[in-house]
Amino acid sequence: MTDIVAPALSRSIVTEIPGPNSRALLERKERVVAKAVPHQLPVFIESAHDAIITDVDGNRFIDLGCGIGVTTIGHTNDKVVDAVREQVGKLTHSLFGTTPYEPYVRIAEYLAAHTPGDHDKKSFFVNSGSEAVENGVKIARKYTGRRAVAVVEHGYHGRTNLTMTMNYKPMPYAAGMGPLASDIFHAPGSYPLQDGLSGAEAAERTQYHLEKHVGVEDLSCLVIEPIQGEGGFIVPADGYLPAMQEWCTANGVVMIADEVQSGICRTGATFASDHFGWVPDLVLSAKGIAGGLPLAGVTGRAEIMDSVHVGGLGGTFGGNPIACAAAVAVFEQIEADDLNGEAQRIERVMRPLLDELAERHPEIIEVRGKGAMLAVELIDPETGAPIPAAPISAAAGLDGVLVLTAGTDYNVLRFLPSLAITDDQIREAIDVIGRALASSLSAA
Ligand SMILES: *Cc1c(COP(=O)(O)O)cnc(C)c1O
Repeated sequence: MTDIVAPALSRSIVTEIPGPNSRALLERKERVVAKAVPHQLPVFIESAHDAIITDVDGNRFIDLGCGIGVTTIGHTNDKVVDAVREQVGKLTHSLFGTTPYEPYVRIAEYLAAHTPGDHDKKSFFVNSGSEAVENGVKIARKYTGRRAVAVVEHGYHGRTNLTMTMNYKPMPYAAGMGPLASDIFHAPGSYPLQDGLSGAEAAERTQYHLEKHVGVEDLSCLVIEPIQGEGGFIVPADGYLPAMQEWCTANGVVMIADEVQSGICRTGATFASDHFGWVPDLVLSAKGIAGGLPLAGVTGRAEIMDSVHVGGLGGTFGGNPIACAAAVAVFEQIEADDLNGEAQRIERVMRPLLDELAERHPEIIEVRGKGAMLAVELIDPETGAPIPAAPISAAAGLDGVLVLTAGTDYNVLRFLPSLAITDDQIREAIDVIGRALASSLSAA
């Protein structure tokens, strides 16, 4: 018997964008959905598989966003769908804190094995990245008995009160919605394009700031994304993260890796911290962990995790059995299907195409990132002013490619394709983005 491999669906725009069905739904949305909740592409999605999303008018888009890095394993991944179908008929909820179930323990075992470092680790689960950050901070405060929390510039950590205070940008996440949380301190991090510092120099600058401005005796934790997501896929200089970990350890500070966006094979390593030789005290996972279902985890050194009294951590829906079953299907594929190799393949195909674009357009000041987490930053070479990425993303959307923006100055195009994207789909998508870039730049 020969294997018959179904050809990947292709990009196909068959109506104007938005089409008539999307337009009718957009009108309904406007009447009843809070306007603070935006949409980037004005189409409603009916279904999706692997790297293709299909709207309610039958238009098909190549998805370079994955719902912000969530469906890393591919939309409606077969094994995730099967696992969910099976679990939903067995147990949808029991609350782990009242009556436990196996998939929760299984995910904790996978995280203990796959997060950086071979020390004893423990985990617990919540529903969102923001909650994982909140709980990481709670645990660090309990463990250290200290109040202050440090983050670095250009970071993003969520939308709850604590995490919106931890974000670098108040707009749009917190502006006008305070009072904000107390005892949060922003320190300079490592942004080689802007600061030109080596990892050691940047670490010295961060340490000086924390020592003088915060005071280490009050500092419970330092929370850093190993590759900053919303900030524009900023890759820190080599040596920065291990130097900060060493400083944290020497000063009794818990160092927390916010791997919510960069984790779970997104960058060609199971956790991005691995690229830098960083072994964090706590690791936060969310977005890509459960193939599209809501699940987030806090994993860390057993003695830190177990410093919290019984009953001090939990929540009604955290570690829901269906979400855990989906995550088991994701972890099984990490091991069986070399998902990190897939992310590396994507970088091998996509990065040279982005480098070529950069040669044609001096406005692309940097191509950066790792694996399936790549970005280009846009700066006017004459004035040094940031070039807004939104019009390029909008033009690509009309032409059948969904691409997200990022950056403190909104001048970064970020690529977060699913690991199921084919080489041909990558080439086609970057071709579309090249055209959108050329027309936006010449119109500006
Ligand atoms: C998305 C994100 C969060 C917040 O996760 P939610 O699930 O949206 O609450 C936190 N940290 C990072 C790095 C993120 O990218």
